[in-house]
Amino acid sequence: MNTISFSGRVFTPSKIVCVGKNYDDHIAEMGGAARPHAPAIFIKPNSSLAFNPKELALPKSLGLVHHEVELCCLVGATMRDAAPDVAKKCIAAYAVGLDLTLRDVQAEAKKAGLPWTLAKGFDGAAVIGAFISASDVPDPQALDIALSVNGTVKQQSNTRHMILAPWEILSYASRFMTIEEGDILMCGTPAGVGPLNDGDRIEAMVSGAPPLSFLMKRLERF
Ligand code: MG
Repeated sequence: MNTISFSGRVFTPSKIVCVGKNYDDHIAEMGGAARPHAPAIFIKPNSSLAFNPKELALPKSLGLVHHEVELCCLVGATMRDAAPDVAKKCIAAYAVGLDLTLRDVQAEAKKAGLPWTLAKGFDGAAVIGAFISASDVPDPQALDIALSVNGTVKQQSNTRHMILAPWEILSYASRFMTIEEGDILMCGTPAGVGPLNDGDRIEAMVSGAPPLSFLMKRLERF
């Protein structure tokens, strides 16, 4: 099982809870006309986790891979059917991460009305940077967030533009599934998503959290 470390402890996320369509400018760039009626929740498995990698190797056979830079939250206490204020207290730490997405595979699934699982859950699909304690983040809804590829800024926003706050997403998801200690939440991406190619240097940041920097490699196979 993949693990993450924070504050001298090792956590084994049972899942990475994700939300789609949480910034209006990203909804617009994907061709969506309106905000979803309910949070668009999906999960990535533990096997998709890449914690603070220096290099990420993906097989070419997966096709087009898009970056989505996102605020990530480490869940420090198990919750079920939690109110937003309770869910907020359960967030132990924040990080920057990438919800890597197989855009062609996802488009095919969307067209056929089928689940996105493989487009979002492949090995390496959840890239998570090192964490900063929630107690050192005065306002999680006022953080700059950005991603560059080979030194060119591709995504740049602020978490105040998120439609749902992290604890609102966790609260909603916890009505359906137990959110366990060590699970990670990915809070959705702003506009500017795009492809990653062999040899690309990716740098991602969220205010206050340690920056994430890794080299993308596309191999013939895993
Ligand atoms: Mg996303």
